[in-house]
Amino acid sequence: MPRFFVDASGSVGDIMLVEGDDALHISKSLRMKPGEEVTLCDGRGTDYRCELVKTSGNNAQVRVLEVTQSTSEPSVEITLYASVTKGDKMDIVIQKAVELGVSSIVPVLSERCIYRYDKDSEKNKLARWNKIALEASKQSGRGRIPRVLPIMPYEQALKEGMKADMRLIAHERAAIPIWEVIESGTYLTSAVFTGPEGGFTEKEVMAAEGLGYTPISLGNRILRAETAPLCVLSIMIYAAKRDSKKGRLGSEKEDITI
Ligand code: SAM
Repeated sequence: MPRFFVDASGSVGDIMLVEGDDALHISKSLRMKPGEEVTLCDGRGTDYRCELVKTSGNNAQVRVLEVTQSTSEPSVEITLYASVTKGDKMDIVIQKAVELGVSSIVPVLSERCIYRYDKDSEKNKLARWNKIALEASKQSGRGRIPRVLPIMPYEQALKEGMKADMRLIAHERAAIPIWEVIESGTYLTSAVFTGPEGGFTEKEVMAAEGLGYTPISLGNRILRAETAPLCVLSIMIYAAKRDSKKGRLGSEKEDITI
């Protein structure tokens, strides 16, 4: 069923409005007829199953049939601090991270980033990255739209990540495998750092350790900068689901979703 994000809320029987490109998508691309169903999401975890009432130009009126909590949001919040990679590899990282359940993405400027920060181009990059996050949220049926935040220097990002219960930095020379760290602790929020094509410097890894981040290994192979974030997210999301079965996550929510 087509999903659209709206900044609105409603109750069963209410008429809600879809405007702009989404309304044109309903009428022109999907050629939907009155009575056909769409899902509206308020972006804060509530889904509205609706039926189309009528379309006119770039407006579509829908009637709310059912209001439910989105079941597609993980109960663990993972913020990915991904070093900015070359070219459009970041697009892939953002798209796949959203599909995998990331809560938000912070592009990080670490020492060996090949990307050279440029204030003018950052605005366009951020707009494109957040559009990718929106499209991936729609396609994967997310209840929220993970935000891609402005590019952040490494030191500032480390401090930002301090708020998280679990703090990890993926490093190919780390001694501890990620699964050992996840086995040993429970968390509801986590901050995960992954490096650029050239990796993190030892100085950067030590700075992270000094702030309570655990360097973790993802195995004996060297993953590409765009592969590592997806590997970390897959393992953490899987572990969250498995732990929920054992009630280990310490969350007040019975049914932990991933
Ligand atoms: N400097 C590294 C080398 O060539 O030996 C390559 C860095 S790798 C392309 C980019 C990032 O992916 C690393 O900074 C790290 O965050 C992550 N990564 C890649 N392989 C990893 C592994 N086996 N364990 C943990 N992190 C890994």
